[in-house]
Amino acid sequence: MNCPACKELMVVLELDDVEIDYCIRCQGIWLDAGELELLLENSHRRDTFLSSFQVEINAGEKKKKCPMCRKKMNKLSLPGSEQDSAQRQKKILIDGCPGQHGIWFDRGELYETLKKGGLTPSDPVITWLREVFRDGLSE
Ligand SMILES: [Zn+2]
Ligand SMILES: [Zn+2]
Repeated sequence: MNCPACKELMVVLELDDVEIDYCIRCQGIWLDAGELELLLENSHRRDTFLSSFQVEINAGEKKKKCPMCRKKMNKLSLPGSEQDSAQRQKKILIDGCPGQHGIWFDRGELYETLKKGGLTPSDPVITWLREVFRDGLSE
């Protein structure tokens, strides 16, 4: 599969039972449908979090095409954490296929998404992502 951002061929990384498509050039990550749910397995607020994604009509970012069906993907915004003003300012926009093939995360966005989604810093998924992206991730 090719990267929807820079068209480079992606590599497959395995994390437990989840196969993650990763672009070495831009460090973006593609998750097939259902994989985000699996990564958020340990989160107590997974379902509320996942159902709160909203489609942004005028996001201002260029739309990317789904690597599986080539349809233009929707910009989805994530709910901010109300306690944390820094997080609220930094809005994350991820790209989701309208045909539900999966979700694209630009560099660092999966990490931010999982943290917002309720994973703790000691969660194996978070630890793993930190190792993969040794630089470029904020605490
Ligand atoms: Zn790329
Ligand atoms: Zn698609």
